[in-house]
Amino acid sequence: MDITGSSAIVTGGASGIGAAVARALAARGATVVVADLNAEKGEALADEISGVFAAVDVTRTDQVAAAVEAAGEIAPLRACVNSAGIGWAQRTIGRDGMLESAHDLDAFRKVVEINLIGTFDMTRQAATVMSRNEPDADGQRGAIVNLASVAAFDGQIGQASYSASKGGVVGMTLPVARDLSAAGIRLNTIAPGLIDTPIYDAFPDPDAFKANLGQNVLFPKRLGRAEELASMVVECLTNSYMNGETIRVDGGIRMPPK
Ligand code: NAD
Repeated sequence: MDITGSSAIVTGGASGIGAAVARALAARGATVVVADLNAEKGEALADEISGVFAAVDVTRTDQVAAAVEAAGEIAPLRACVNSAGIGWAQRTIGRDGMLESAHDLDAFRKVVEINLIGTFDMTRQAATVMSRNEPDADGQRGAIVNLASVAAFDGQIGQASYSASKGGVVGMTLPVARDLSAAGIRLNTIAPGLIDTPIYDAFPDPDAFKANLGQNVLFPKRLGRAEELASMVVECLTNSYMNGETIRVDGGIRMPPK
């Protein structure tokens, strides 16, 4: 599926995997709407790739609606990538054995609200705008990629909310792909392993933490690069025969059971 001359929307596009995806889609000739909470980084990236920044909190359905409509007015919206996400907030707490904090209900709701419900809302609203496109020769009107995590399959201590939210993203992939196929829209999900992005910046010693994590990767013994995720996202968007699939991109990671 050709995205040249189309618009594309990338949530979480201001940072990490989303930013690498935004650059890759711009290089493919799409006009990218960088949809993120972070206006400073989002605007800078939009300038760099001749795209557009949209201030979007994915938990605000009115903001999601405005962003997809704006994207559809630039050019036919043919690509949507949901990379906005949070999730490591409870990790340290859980490791300390503070179950009450790790299982705080408000925190659980917040993670699910952003990672799962925000992803679902953007998926359905982007699909509505895509359904107005003229189909290509294959009958296709657009494609969507959602970011889950290997935590959907192999969660760690203190990460119930994160694993539940990402498990939901994996679980909805096939049924939503089935729903959208009637409109000529494909949906795939990518489950990253440990990717070197600013998501780790909040940790006390991020470099030591990342080096330690890299030892759990089968091969090569390092964290993944955002560009290595972006190339798989582009493949899922543009390969017309990819649909309803969840793909791990994780260096063969095997986390120790601790
Ligand atoms: P990141 O922190 O670098 O980027 C996430 C972006 O999402 C940020 O720009 C942030 O402002 C934005 N965001 C957060 N909440 C938002 C909201 N409510 N509305 C709009 N934007 C919001 O993280 P990343 O590592 O690039 O992660 C991207 C996606 O990949 C996330 O869904 C994450 O859970 C997933 N993932 C990352 C890793 C990893 O190791 N980095 C592993 C597995 C899955």
